[in-house]
Amino acid sequence: MGNDLGCQICLSHSEKPYQPRFVLATSPSDLLYRCDFCRTWWIGTQRYQNPVSPDAARAAFPEARIED
Ligand SMILES: [Zn+2]
Repeated sequence: MGNDLGCQICLSHSEKPYQPRFVLATSPSDLLYRCDFCRTWWIGTQRYQNPVSPDAARAAFPEARIED
């Protein structure tokens, strides 16, 4: 299987003004989000986000408290 991250809600809204909920930023272009529905982590910029595994989110944001 390829990409099993994200749910219909966050995937279908990821290119629209709605985004998975903002969690924290370590710079203007390093933003962390999480979908409240499927609990998938998203990382990206203000313009573009990608769903990532908890391990990838943890690696990108070591200061965040990221659970599986
Ligand atoms: Zn989701």
